[in-house]
Amino acid sequence: MDNFNAGPSILPPAVLEQAAAAIRDFQGTGLSILEIGHRTALFQPVMEEARQLVRDLMQLHPDQEVLFLHGGASTQFMQVPMNLLPSNKKAAYTDTGIWSAKAIKEANLYGTVEIAGSSKEGGYRAIPRTLEIDPEAQYLHLTTNETVHGVQWQQIPMELDLPLVADMSSDILSRSLPFDRFGLIYAGAQKNMGPAGVNLVIVNKNLLGKADRRIPTMMDYREHIREESMLNTPPVFAVYVVLLTLRWVKEQGGIIEMEKRSIEKAKLFYDTLDALPMFNGPVATADRSHMNAVFTMNDPTLESAFLKACEAAGMIGIKGHRSVGGFRVSMYNALPLESVKALTSLMTDFAQQNG
Ligand SMILES: *Cc1c(COP(=O)(O)O)cnc(C)c1O
Repeated sequence: MDNFNAGPSILPPAVLEQAAAAIRDFQGTGLSILEIGHRTALFQPVMEEARQLVRDLMQLHPDQEVLFLHGGASTQFMQVPMNLLPSNKKAAYTDTGIWSAKAIKEANLYGTVEIAGSSKEGGYRAIPRTLEIDPEAQYLHLTTNETVHGVQWQQIPMELDLPLVADMSSDILSRSLPFDRFGLIYAGAQKNMGPAGVNLVIVNKNLLGKADRRIPTMMDYREHIREESMLNTPPVFAVYVVLLTLRWVKEQGGIIEMEKRSIEKAKLFYDTLDALPMFNGPVATADRSHMNAVFTMNDPTLESAFLKACEAAGMIGIKGHRSVGGFRVSMYNALPLESVKALTSLMTDFAQQNG
């Protein structure tokens, strides 16, 4: 089986095996990971190691705090402005796809959103080439990879003099960036880092405490920092599977190695796509996502036959998002190059047989 699901998505087989074993017997205790307290000497090291591994793999700055929170990345759409955007101030957002549009909608509830750059008019097929940032903006928000539209910021504007806030849900741990220079990074785990149910938040603590509103305890990053990401019961099993995935990334060679593999997989896929006139990639070449490749077929009547051929060959998760149609191939860290090879040869064969 080749698993191209967009999210929740493929995890390394070794991670799944260890996770399954921990459900039956966690570290030889005779207890399941599901039935131990989160403040016990058994679970606390899990949380500590997971937070530390994020620090190490991403080479964070000491002022950056690592949290594992509930509510998915969608909760961060509101939690970010609630904590960082005073009600009489502005925030700059880029509008590059479905996910950034959702973030913008929530930020509008807390302050004024200025759109610094948008590709909405062209149907979200590119990353804006230039940005116009309001000098009063408190931060700039980017969605580094648009999971549905298949566009990715290949060059992140790091030289700006305002804090950068990034939704990295679908390209976290797949590319090396100067993570220590971001104001805030968030990512739902279920694309590239673990199972659904937990959210990674990295926040520079110097940005906190400036909002002029009362923040509910569960929404206040400072409360979570104070309690070392154990303000209430964390999603213990999800955090454990994230820890196993982080260990796997480290063993494989860290983010540098993930990036190398991801470039190789994406190159193979897009080279094949470009060589076959039957298929069509709508995204501007320079902005194509290394994680989620979207494509259509010039003859839409062939689409269902192609999908059937993929399914018959054991390839799953290829159908495009319901909002954009066509096809989408997700090539997250755990997807082996062999899966991309199998798919690209199927595409080549299909084009020969139906061309
Ligand atoms: C999936 C996704 C989200 C939403 O994540 P949830 O955990 O479902 O809330 C947000 N942003 C991006 C870029 C995503 O890919």
